[in-house]
Amino acid sequence: MKIQFIGTGNMDSERFNACILVNDCILIDAPPGVGKTLLKNGFDIRKIKAILITHQHIDHYFDLPILIRELSNCHVPEIHILANQSLIDNFQTLMKLAFPDVYQEILQPIQIHFTVLKEYENYSLLNFHILSIPVIHGNLDSCFGFILKNNETSIGYSGDASYTKEIEYICKNCNFIILDSTKSIGDRDHMGLNNIYDICKKYPQKTVFITHLSEQINTKKVKKYINLIIPTDNKLYKIKKNKESLF
Ligand SMILES: [Zn+2]
Repeated sequence: MKIQFIGTGNMDSERFNACILVNDCILIDAPPGVGKTLLKNGFDIRKIKAILITHQHIDHYFDLPILIRELSNCHVPEIHILANQSLIDNFQTLMKLAFPDVYQEILQPIQIHFTVLKEYENYSLLNFHILSIPVIHGNLDSCFGFILKNNETSIGYSGDASYTKEIEYICKNCNFIILDSTKSIGDRDHMGLNNIYDICKKYPQKTVFITHLSEQINTKKVKKYINLIIPTDNKLYKIKKNKESLF
């Protein structure tokens, strides 16, 4: 499985906003500027077949109109969007706000398959089994993490989340875990390095990647655990069962 960290920062970070691309075809989160960033990195946007949105904060979904416009312009016939009910309900409005004059022309040629995310539901998509995990992110409703499995391995993605039993569930069930580590000390909004260290110690056989890093996190001072990886923007990893190798 290929995991590309397009962005690894939070909204205020110099790093690009957190989002990943899995096997070139599944984009998890669509932060502002992701379409341009992908183009700048020489990525063929037509390869994207599905977009999963973790939650409804601007730094996780606001490039959806740009991406849809791009895909429509490239004559991509269809795309899957998996998101919470509210975002899907408001998708048309979002497109209309973004492109009041041409949103119908953009939407007309492309078929968008919407899937409303439910808690602990399995979705089969593009040779992947995707499980939606409800997570707690402050007081925001309907936030999700994901477990993605294919015939090679399994990865977990927390999205923005505090440390709860649902995060434990992701850790137990995945070989590779990508976790929110916005803060030094975790709280109700986000996990922190203290939570990450606990997880690294508790699951020494699993590889933990941290993302959504804020300026508060000095990566040079992060404790060294053999199973802890701090990816940089645009870093690509190829993972197989329990091994990960840098491209
Ligand atoms: Zn958030």
